[in-house]
Amino acid sequence: MRHWNAISGGVIAFACVFVVWVASLLGGLAPIDQAIRTWRFQATDRAPSGETLFVDIDSKSLTNVGVWPWPRQVHAAILDRLMSLGAAEVVFDIDFSSASTPQGDLALEQALQRAGGYAFLAAFQQTTSAGEIVLNGPLPRFAAQANSVLVNVDGDGTSLLQSVPTGLPELGIPSVAQALVPAAPASGPTLMMDFGIDLERIARISASEVLSGTPDPALFANKQVIVGASAIELRDFFQVPRFGVIPGPLVQLEATETLKAGRLLTDLGSLPALLLSLLAAGAFVQARRRQTPLGVLAAAGAGFIVLVEILAWLALREKGAVLATALFQFSIGLLVLSGLLNERALRWREFLRQQGRLAYLATHDLSSGAISRQALVDALDSELTSGKPASVVLVHLGRLDAAIASLGHDVGEQAAAHVAQRLEQHLAIKPARIGSDLFAWSRPDALNPEQLTALCRWIASALDQPYLIDGHVIILDTRYGATAVSNGDYSAAELLRQSDVALGEARIQNAKALAFSADQSERITQRRLKDIALRQALERDEFYLLFQPQIDLATNRLVGVEALVRWKNAELGAISPADFIPLAEETGLIVRLGDWIMHEACRQVALWSWDGRLSINVSSVQFQLGDVIASLTSALSKSGFPARRLDLEITESLFIKDDPSILGALETIRRMGVSIALDDFGTGYSSLSYLTRLPIDKLKIDQAFVRPLPDTHNEAIVETIILMAKRLGKTVVAEGVETAHQRDYLAALGCEIGQGYLFGRPSSPEVLGLEPSSHEVAAAPATPAGPAASAES
Ligand code: C2E
Ligand code: MG
Ligand code: MG
Repeated sequence: MRHWNAISGGVIAFACVFVVWVASLLGGLAPIDQAIRTWRFQATDRAPSGETLFVDIDSKSLTNVGVWPWPRQVHAAILDRLMSLGAAEVVFDIDFSSASTPQGDLALEQALQRAGGYAFLAAFQQTTSAGEIVLNGPLPRFAAQANSVLVNVDGDGTSLLQSVPTGLPELGIPSVAQALVPAAPASGPTLMMDFGIDLERIARISASEVLSGTPDPALFANKQVIVGASAIELRDFFQVPRFGVIPGPLVQLEATETLKAGRLLTDLGSLPALLLSLLAAGAFVQARRRQTPLGVLAAAGAGFIVLVEILAWLALREKGAVLATALFQFSIGLLVLSGLLNERALRWREFLRQQGRLAYLATHDLSSGAISRQALVDALDSELTSGKPASVVLVHLGRLDAAIASLGHDVGEQAAAHVAQRLEQHLAIKPARIGSDLFAWSRPDALNPEQLTALCRWIASALDQPYLIDGHVIILDTRYGATAVSNGDYSAAELLRQSDVALGEARIQNAKALAFSADQSERITQRRLKDIALRQALERDEFYLLFQPQIDLATNRLVGVEALVRWKNAELGAISPADFIPLAEETGLIVRLGDWIMHEACRQVALWSWDGRLSINVSSVQFQLGDVIASLTSALSKSGFPARRLDLEITESLFIKDDPSILGALETIRRMGVSIALDDFGTGYSSLSYLTRLPIDKLKIDQAFVRPLPDTHNEAIVETIILMAKRLGKTVVAEGVETAHQRDYLAALGCEIGQGYLFGRPSSPEVLGLEPSSHEVAAAPATPAGPAASAES
C-alpha cells in the first residue's frame, strides 16, 4: 500500500486544529465547554459558608399577601422581623426606585431607619430604548437610610450566566457580594462565580414564614440575608452553569459565597487548549510518519483527553482556573478522523490502482506490451456492430520457436516485444498478441486482396529485418493472413478465423501473404472432414500397403521394396499419402498408423519366399510422440522378419531440433541390425554436418533431382551427392527413375540402387510376383503392366 504522505498529512493535521479553533471562535464549541464546566463544578462541590440566608418571596408568600408589588409595609415588616431575629445584614433584591403609597413608603423608610445601616437596597443599571445607560436606584428617601448595592446580572455574553459585575466604583455602589464581603480582594470589573459552591445547601426560608410563622431565631442569628423573589411569576431567572435556572437573588448569593470562599476564578479561555492541540497535531504527524497504527493513536488521543480533563478539573479546584477544553477534544477527534479518512483514501487509491492494473493485465500482453486478443476483439466488435468496415491482418513469426529453442524463452519474448514495437511504429496503433508467435491488428477500412497482400509485404520488409537481442542476431520469417469486411457483416472472432485460414493457406502454398477467400474455407472444411474420417480409418481397416521395387542398377535385380501406405475411404475415395500423412502428423494419429504400417509391412514381407530388403517410412513425429523402438521390436518379433533386411526411411526434418535422444534412438535401431536411410535427400535441412555425425547407412536422392535428368544443374547436384556418399561410405538410392537414360546415367556414376516408375509403381505383392508361396524371384525390370487393380498407374 502507498505510504502516508508526511507533507500533505502534516498540512491536514494542522488544518484540523485550525478548523476547530475557528469553530471555537465562532462559539460553536461553547455548549460543550459549558457542559464540561457544569460537570467540573459538580465535581468540585463545596459547602457554602453558612453565613448567608435566602428569604424567599415564593409563590406561597405571594398568595398570602395577595397582591404584587407588595405594599411597602410588608417589606418593612420583613425587615423589622429579620432584624429582631438577629440578622446581621439584610439585602433587598427588590426594586424600590419608584414611589408607592405614602403610608407604605413611610413604613419602609422607618424600618430602614430602625435597621440602622444594616440594610441594603437594590440598584441596577439599565439601557433605555434610546441607548442611554441609566441607574435605577432606590428612592432618595430610602437611599438616605440604606446603602445601595448593585444587583445587575449582565452575564458575559454567553447563554450562561457565569459572572456578575463587581459594582459601580465611580458611583460608590458595590455589588451585593462586595457589600457583604467588604474585605475580599478586588476581582476586577466582573466576578466569576464558583458554582462548585452548592447553592442548595444555603439556608432558604419563605418570606411568608418570616412574616407570619414562627421562625427559629437560631437560623437568623448573625446571618447575612438576601430577600428576593423566586416565584416564577416574577420572572427573575437566569441559566447558570450548575443548578439549571436560578432566581436572581441566588445568583447574588453565589457571588457572595464565591468571595467568602476566596475563590477568585480566572477564565483562561481556550488558549491553553489551542497550544495543546498544536502540540498534539505535531505529535500526530510524527507518529504517523513512524507508521504508528491509527488504533493506537486513537487510544492515546482518548487517554490525553481524559488526562487534560483531569488536569483542567484540578486547575479549577486548586487554582480557580477555568479552562475551555472542548477545542482540544475536538482537535484530537478531528485528527483521528482525518487519519481514518486518509487511510480510507489511501486504500481506495490502492484499490483503484489495482483495478487499473487488472484492467491492464486483462487487455495487454505484459511481455510484449501489445494488447490482448480480447482487447482487439472487443474494440473490433464495437466497430463492426455499428456496420463499419474493417480489415484484419494476422502475422505469424516463423522461426521464433527455433530462436526460443536455441536461445531461450527470454530472448524469444524480447524478440516478440521488438516485433510489437516495429508494428506499432509502422501502423501507429498497438497490435494485439494472440499467440506466442502470432500478432494481429485491424484497420477501419476494407482493403481488397491486392491491397491486403501489399500491406503485408510492406510490413514484412520491416519485420523480417534482423533483430539484435542480447548480442544474438535473430531473423524471423513472417507470414501473413488477412481479410476484410465492408459492412460489419462478420464478428471480430470470424474475421480472426478468416485471417487464420488465409494464414494456413499461405503456409501450405508457401506464400508470404494471402487474403482470405471462400474456397480456402471450403478446403478447411474438407480437411476437417478428412481429419474425422482419418481417425476412424484404422478401426475401419481402410489402410493397406503397396510395395515399390528397388533395383540393383548394376545387375538389374530386385533387391528391395519400399512399403507405401494407401487409404481408401468409402466417401472420400482414394486419398494420397502426400495428403493424409501430413494430416496424420498434425493430429498425432501418425503414431498409431505408423505402428500399424510397421507391423503390417514386416508381417507381409516375412511371409514371402524372398530375401530382399524392406524399406519402411518413419515420420519424425513418430520419433517425437511415439516409441519407435518399441514398435519396431514388437513388429520384428511378431513377424519373425530379420532386422538385418530392414531399412527405416527417415527425413532430414528429424534433425532440425538437434535432439540428443533422437541420435540415441537411431543408434539403438542400428544396434538391432536395422539400417537407416535418409529419404528425400537434398531437399530439406541444409546442414551437411550431420551426415558425418549421424548413424545413416543410405542416402535416397530426392526425385526432384532425378526426374528432370538430363539437365545440367541437376546433374551437378546428383553427381555431387553420389560422390559425397561414396566418400562417406554410404549406399546411394536414386528415387523417381522414370527413363532408361536416367537409369544408365545413374549406373554410370556408380549409384547402387534405383527406384521409380521405370522399374515399377507401388503395387500389390501379387503384381510384383512376391506371393507367400512363390520361390526365387528375379524380376528385372519389373513391368508396370499386370492386373490393374493391384498396381498404381
Ligand atoms: P517417399 O517416401 O519419398 O515415397 C516415394 C514416393 O514417390 C511415393 O509416393 C511413390 O509413389 C513416388 N514415386 C516412386 N517412383 C516414382 C517415379 O518414378 N515418379 C514419380 N512421379 N513418383 C514416384 P507416395 O506413395 O504417394 O508417397 C508419398 C510420400 O508419402 C512418401 O514419399 C512418404 O513420405 C509418404 N509415405 C507414403 N507411405 C508412407 C508410410 O507408410 N509411412 C510414412 N511415414 N510415410 C509414408
Ligand atoms: Mg520413402
Ligand atoms: Mg522419397
